[in-house]
Amino acid sequence: MTEYVMIPLTPAEADGRPVIDTGVSLVGKAGSDFVCAHCGRVMITAFDIAAMRPDMVYRCGTCRGFNGAPKIK
Ligand SMILES: [Zn+2]
Repeated sequence: MTEYVMIPLTPAEADGRPVIDTGVSLVGKAGSDFVCAHCGRVMITAFDIAAMRPDMVYRCGTCRGFNGAPKIK
């Protein structure tokens, strides 16, 4: 399982883009783990982020920070 750090976004950068609030943790069935770029907490677990639309914004349920999807190998 690979762990990625998300891309930090400002509220202005997130404006106008679709936002998912990950809550305590967004858990998928298979994929990678993603760490909030603002607070360092694992906010998405075992998730195939490449299946999501590329402009999606992920809002951390812990610090309320906005994150973008990192580049996946
Ligand atoms: Zn956070």
